[in-house]
Amino acid sequence: MSQIHQGRTVSHLSCRLCRGASGTIVLDLGEQPACDHFPSADDSGADPTYPLQMWLCSACGLAQLVDDPTDAEEPRGVEPAALVAQSVDAVGRVASAGWLRPGTKVAEYGSPHGGSWLDLIGERGLTLAGDDEVADVVVDCFGLMHWRDQAAAIAERADRVAPGGVLLLQYHELRAIVRQGQWNMLRLGHYAYYSLTALVGMLARVGFTVRTVWSFDLYGGTVLLAATRDGSPDGSVTRLLGEERQLEIDQPDYVGRLQDSASASAHGLNAWLAEQKSAGHLVLGYGAASRAVAMLAMAGVARTELTAIADASQAKWGRRMPGTDIPIISPSDLVSAHPERVLLLLSDLMTEVRADLPTVEADGGTWIDVASLVGTEHKVAQ
Ligand SMILES: [Zn+2]
Repeated sequence: MSQIHQGRTVSHLSCRLCRGASGTIVLDLGEQPACDHFPSADDSGADPTYPLQMWLCSACGLAQLVDDPTDAEEPRGVEPAALVAQSVDAVGRVASAGWLRPGTKVAEYGSPHGGSWLDLIGERGLTLAGDDEVADVVVDCFGLMHWRDQAAAIAERADRVAPGGVLLLQYHELRAIVRQGQWNMLRLGHYAYYSLTALVGMLARVGFTVRTVWSFDLYGGTVLLAATRDGSPDGSVTRLLGEERQLEIDQPDYVGRLQDSASASAHGLNAWLAEQKSAGHLVLGYGAASRAVAMLAMAGVARTELTAIADASQAKWGRRMPGTDIPIISPSDLVSAHPERVLLLLSDLMTEVRADLPTVEADGGTWIDVASLVGTEHKVAQ
C-alpha cells in the first residue's frame, strides 16, 4: 500500500463546490484499481491503480473525492429490490406532502446506477419536460454525486426548475457512511459525499432553500430533500441539521473515523478468511459490485482465500474482480459449487439473495455479511 496521508491538511486542492483551497484528507485508501473495469478472467493484469482519498473542505464542509484521473464509465448494475421498494415509498411520501401536482412537468437527472423515478411520478399525472424545457419538479436521485464539478452541477439543476417549482434531491447521508463505517463508499467516479449541512449551503449558493426532508433506511441512511426558491425550512430540516451539528459533521475528526473503519474492515476480513481456510471451508463471494473492489483491494484478498464471486449481472461472468485474480461466476455456478460459506459483499442484498438462492442454505451453506466481520479489537466506538 502506498503512503497514507489521512489527517493531513492539504492546501493545493480546490473544492469542487466553493473552490476553497483549505481542507483535510479524512480518508486515504492508498492505491486502488479502477472499479468500473472488470478485466477478462484470463487477463492476468496487473491492473492500473490510482490513489483514492476523501477530502473535507474547511470552507463549505463538502466531503469529496480528491482526484479522479480516470474517466469512469459507471457500470450499470442490476437494480437491487431495496432501491425499487424505496423509490415507491419516497414518491408516495412526496406526493402525500403535495409536491407532485398532476398536469405539471417533471425532469430527472438520473444516476448511472439506475433507479429512475419517472414512471412512478408519471403515474401521479405529471408529464415529462422536453430536454431544453424547465420543469415544475426536478428530480435527482443519487445523480449529483457523479458530477465532477459540483458547483456547475447544482447550478444546472437549479436553472432547470420552473418558477414556483421544486428540486427533489436524494442522497446517501455522510453521517450514515461514517456511523456504519462504510468507507468503501469512497470510490472513483463518486465525487461528493453529502451532509444536509453541506447541501443547505450548496443550495443557498443557487438561491434555493431546503423546505423539508424525508429519511429512509436505504443504505443505512438515505435522505430525500425538497428545495424551492422561497419559503422556509420545516421542523424536519432543523432537526436533522441539529443532529449533524452535534456530530460536528463538517469536522475532520468526525469524518476521519472512516479511516479507522477501513483498517478494522480489512483486518476483520483477513482474520475471518484465514479461519475459514484453516477449517478447510470452501468460501465463495456474492456481489461483484464496485464497493467490493475497494474492500478486496484494501484487504489484499486473493483467489486462494476467496475462490470466486458470483454476480447477477451476466456481463460480468467470465471476468475477474479488478486488482485481484478472483473470477466472477453466475449465481447458479455458485449454488452448484456447494460452498460452506458465502461472503455477501453487499449487505443490503441479504434478504434478497437468501430468498433467491435458497439452495445455498438447504445444502448446509451459510451466508456471511462482510460488514459483520469488522475486527472487534479495531471496532470504532461511535
Ligand atoms: Zn468547499
